Amino acid sequence: MNPQLRRKVALLDLHLHYEKIQDEIDTAIKRVFASKQFILGSEVKELEHEIAAYCHSDYAIGCASGSDAILLALMAYDIGVGDEVITTPYTFFATVGSIVRLGAKPVFVDIEESTFNMNPQALAALINDKTRAILPIHLFGQCADMEPIKALAKSIGIPVIEDAAQAIGAEYKGERAGKLGALAAFSFYPSKNLGGAGDGGMLTTDDAALAEKLQALRAHGARKKYFHDYVGLNSRLDSLQAAILRVKLKYLEVWSEARRENARRYQNLFSQTNLLTAGKVRLPVEVAGMRHVYNQYVIVVEARDRLMAYLKEQGIGTEIYYPLPLHLQTCFADLGFHRGDFPVSEKAAATALAIPVHPELTAADQQYVVESIEAFYAV
Ligand SMILES: *Cc1c(COP(=O)(O)O)cnc(C)c1O
Repeated sequence: MNPQLRRKVALLDLHLHYEKIQDEIDTAIKRVFASKQFILGSEVKELEHEIAAYCHSDYAIGCASGSDAILLALMAYDIGVGDEVITTPYTFFATVGSIVRLGAKPVFVDIEESTFNMNPQALAALINDKTRAILPIHLFGQCADMEPIKALAKSIGIPVIEDAAQAIGAEYKGERAGKLGALAAFSFYPSKNLGGAGDGGMLTTDDAALAEKLQALRAHGARKKYFHDYVGLNSRLDSLQAAILRVKLKYLEVWSEARRENARRYQNLFSQTNLLTAGKVRLPVEVAGMRHVYNQYVIVVEARDRLMAYLKEQGIGTEIYYPLPLHLQTCFADLGFHRGDFPVSEKAAATALAIPVHPELTAADQQYVVESIEAFYAV
């Protein structure tokens, strides 16, 4: 490739992202310092109202991270030793780590090849009298197939908890992520579509009693200071994070649409190559009735690791989500799983590659990415 055409395309450009809203962010930070309220307080309350409204949920409860949000969700249902929670092995560690932290057992169901999300067809066989919840992930920004999952959960009277960490603003048949299950967990990790300047998380629910319990659980289980009804966590959301997130929330729709536009542009650009028909590259599938918000744009490719190294040389940032499915992680060895147990997840772990899709990406950046991928397979 002509070296003069070489450019730098980061997987995520937080610098560009911040530049555009710097003044507003700085004002928000000053407001927090002036208030000297650094934990919870009015900024967090306002953010909770705004997130609840955005997700069409009745309640939102801030906490310290997306990982804690999942942990708190399970704790709200008193899930612990002897209980089973069904989820997939192809997700970020926290989904499964939270289950195991509480002494409960993760029961894995494989994913669908086209969407990387929970395969509802394989669920029924895993249900038994210890099953306490189903925990689907809306991976990469597209909702899991919630209708059959919810129908099954309802038939046996257990909750569906959404891991919506990557999916704020995603929709399933007109309904928003966060409104699809009994409880949902969101993350404000900086690389998420709504990212803070550090860790942060949020839960949404329509259940007033659960919301009230979660407010206690995130503050050491105390409804009244120093009087503890539960053994909870210290998982409060900082006011600084809330103030920053409130600024960014105003732009979230614009950014999500930019991600969707970038996905459409990739579709066009790749269609003009022979990469798809030659089976070198498979693009993400946006299922009908879904609003995919593309926290990641994950393609499935031939010779993944070599392509990744080549793109790095060309100045293009990519990432593997996730290189080792959770059933094969060292820390879960005592669960007794083996390679081959969840073949679709294992195949995804070996072939999936996230390429840049962030809102600041330009058409020229995308053209460069696609041309570089073409150049790799041409040699
Ligand atoms: C990011 C993420 C989490 C955890 O969120 P943190 O805020 O990083 O703790 C959980 N699940 C999924 C699917 C995630 O992507």
